[in-house]
Amino acid sequence: MLIIYGVYHFWPKRVGFRDDYCLGCDKPRRSFAVRTFDVGHFFWIPFLPFGFWKHWKCSECARDPHVHVKTRRPFKWLGFACLIFFSSIFWFPLESNNGAVWILRMAPLAGAAALLIHLLKTPKDPSLMERLAAIPPAADSICPFCSTPLIAGDGSRWSCPACGAVRC
Ligand SMILES: [Zn+2]
Ligand SMILES: [Zn+2]
Repeated sequence: MLIIYGVYHFWPKRVGFRDDYCLGCDKPRRSFAVRTFDVGHFFWIPFLPFGFWKHWKCSECARDPHVHVKTRRPFKWLGFACLIFFSSIFWFPLESNNGAVWILRMAPLAGAAALLIHLLKTPKDPSLMERLAAIPPAADSICPFCSTPLIAGDGSRWSCPACGAVRC
């Protein structure tokens, strides 16, 4: 039986912005925080209010900027190890020499070799933390949502007196 469930995001309000690194775009991006009142639904019937939650969205692709979209390198190495292992199963006993066995020996090895070349050729992704560290904090003096000049609050918190958005 197909079960349909999910979350409704009610009353979206833009509450903040920051200079960010979007893993989906693979580029430094501006991202916006949207606060919504989230309610779980079951077959479209709202039944479980979760309360107010803040969601970060990339200004370009509208996805969560910190969610990985590509297969991560450790998983590729794991795939490499599996292919080697799969091939090794068919190397013993060495006496069995029919064509099918050779295909089972060589096909995973060819896949492993291609994956190894791919892993060695593509540069190691810097971690998200390193990428974020390279991005200077937002320095806007004007609210990107309503063009009101921001004012400095407690500490170094800048916020918009008109719409309440916070520079993060
Ligand atoms: Zn993006
Ligand atoms: Zn504003």
